[in-house]
Formats: sequence, C-alpha cells, structure tokens
Amino acid sequence: MIIHVDMDAFYASIEIRDNPALENLPVVVGGSVKHRGVVAAASYEARKYGVFSAMPASTAIRKCPGIIFLPVDMKKYLKVSAQIQNIFLTFTPVVEPLALDEAFLDVTQSEKLFGSSASIGRKIKQVIKSELRLDASVGVARTKFIAKIASDFDKPDGFVQVPVNGEQNFLDPLPVHLMWGIGKSSLQRYLTLGIKTFKDIRLRTKDFMGEEFGQQGCSVWELANGIDTRTVSSQTQIKSISHERTFANDIADIPVLMAILLELVEQVGQRLRKKNKLYRTVTLKLRDSDFKTISRSKTLEQSLDSTSSIWHTAKALLNTVVQNRGRLSGAYRLIGVGVSGFQAPPSMQQSLFNDSKADCHSEIDKVTDQIRERYGDKSIARGKSKSSIES
Ligand SMILES: [Mg+2]
Repeated sequence: MIIHVDMDAFYASIEIRDNPALENLPVVVGGSVKHRGVVAAASYEARKYGVFSAMPASTAIRKCPGIIFLPVDMKKYLKVSAQIQNIFLTFTPVVEPLALDEAFLDVTQSEKLFGSSASIGRKIKQVIKSELRLDASVGVARTKFIAKIASDFDKPDGFVQVPVNGEQNFLDPLPVHLMWGIGKSSLQRYLTLGIKTFKDIRLRTKDFMGEEFGQQGCSVWELANGIDTRTVSSQTQIKSISHERTFANDIADIPVLMAILLELVEQVGQRLRKKNKLYRTVTLKLRDSDFKTISRSKTLEQSLDSTSSIWHTAKALLNTVVQNRGRLSGAYRLIGVGVSGFQAPPSMQQSLFNDSKADCHSEIDKVTDQIRERYGDKSIARGKSKSSIES
C-alpha cells in the first residue's frame, strides 16, 4: 500500500508556527508590499481572499489589502523538510520525495511492525503534529495516483483512505479536471464529448480514448480504471538536483516566470555546493496549461558548480522555448530547473577554473552561501532577483 503525505501550506504554516501572533491572519511567504515579488506560499486564511502561490504581490494586495508578507527562509524550510523525511524513514525505507513538503511512502512491508497502512498514515500525521507542530494531509491507497488524489481530497489536516476494491467508488464521481494530464484546453474537449467525471472516462473504451486524445487518452483511461503500475522508488544515489514549482493559476507573464526561475536556480545552486558536486547539464522544465511538459537541456563544455552559469543557461533555455512557441507560448502551470551529470570536484579544482571569470563567480557563490547560512535566504539575492523577488 502507498501513502502520499503532503504538508498543508508548508512555508506559511512554518512561519505561523514560529510566530503565533500571525495565527488566523492572512499571511503569505514571498513577495512584499514595496517590491514586485511573487507569492511563494499562502496561508489558508489568505486563500479565503483568493490569494494563491505564484501570484504577483501586487495582485495579492489588491485581493487582500491587509495581507502580511513574510520573507522566504529557505534554510529553515529545508531543515523542517529533513525532519519530516526522518519521520517517514522511521516507518519505511521506501520513501520517494516529490518536493520539500511531499512524498510517497510504500508501507507494504511495514504493516507487520506498525499495523495497517491506514493506521501508519494516521501515526505519521500524529508524529508530525506532536514533534513539529505542523499539519499534514495523508492519502492511503493501492496506487500512487489514487493516494495523491486522496491526500488532496480533505485538505487541510486531511486523512483519506481508499480501501482495496473501493477504488472505483472513490474515483467514479471525481470531476475530470482532477485527472492528471487534463489541462484547460483539453478539458473543454472532454466536456464537449459529455465526459464530466472519471466514471464517464471509465465507461468509454480505451480505443475510443486513444483515438480521441492519443497516448494521453490511453493513460487517462487507465488511471480512471485504477490502473497505475508506477512503484515508489527511493533512490539513495543522487543523480540530479532540481527544484520546481506548480502554480495555483497558470502564469503567462514571462518576467514573473523569470523571477520564479531565478529563485529556483538559487536553491539548486545552494544545494549543489552543500553536496559538493559539479554539474555539466542544466535542464529547464515547463508544463503548459494543457499539461504538456516541455523539457530542454544543455550540456556545458566543462563541469561547474556556480549558480550564475545555471542561471544563464536556464534563462537562455526559457527564452528559446518562449521564442520557438511564438504566439503559442501561452500560459504555464509549472516551472522547474535541475542540474545533472555530476562529478565530484577533483583535487586539482583550480585547473578547471583557471579563467578569471569562473574564479570570480565561484568566489561570489562562496560568499553568498556563507551569508545565507548565517543570516537566512532573504539576506542576499543577486542582480535581478533583488528587486523583483524576495528569495
Ligand atoms: Mg503541500
């Protein structure tokens, strides 16, 4: 059985926990009154006003004039994320993190030790609550897809168990927009065909879905029938470091995407150097409003560890994607950046950085990391991000 755990309003909940005066107030992390920032996380109180993550700060103020902006403290969130991972690992070694605040756990082999998967799910919630004073939402099911939908079903502080053989009852009434892979424009085509619920998908044939929607239609049909063979994979060997963000509302504004990208690049760079790795490949990931994932990579001539070359490469990749799509560029629901092709730094590292420009960048990164370690992520942000986003 698989458990999906997803923390509720993660960054915002941590800040409220650490400053109880903020309780029951509309709070967002990221962005600020003065600057043109972007909201990174919104408390549930703020969401009541229609404020969501990835919304420009100016829009958030308009929707909720009394909104409170807090700086992003990534170091703190990474620490809490590690604490949560450690709690997971006390229940099963098979943990697959999806984000700082989200993971799949395969608990099939843990049931003899800790009881049924449902009781393990409840225990995980309890331990997170008692040790970290944070709320998690939990979904328990036979497959990854159903567990993920279940954890979102009863948020916040949710717990939903979908019993074996109860999958059809759970899935059938769900509206098609909750189906993975159905974006805004294909949603319209589903509705035109009279397909409104998962049951409507299930009752069609797989061939019909394939003819209408191609490969995506086939996988949608399988998911609606409870078929999902993906396993939980806990890779101990890191092959890549990446950060991505999904938006509550699609973003078409390229400068806003750039600001979010820069924030993600800074996070990747910092983690990279903490792990003492050199990368050769930079990958940009975008998902459009139609759930089409666009992935573009560039392999560099030499291995590097600097944030600035991740940034320049990722920015160039984003510009290329936007230009190639031209008028079709449209809106995006996710952006991510990653580095891979790792090498441990050689002892003769200097020889790799013998041009003075690279030397200078690695010095900047070293100093930036030190300042961030001491004073938090908000204390320093390079160039563009300083005025456009609090990171
Ligand atoms: Mg979450």
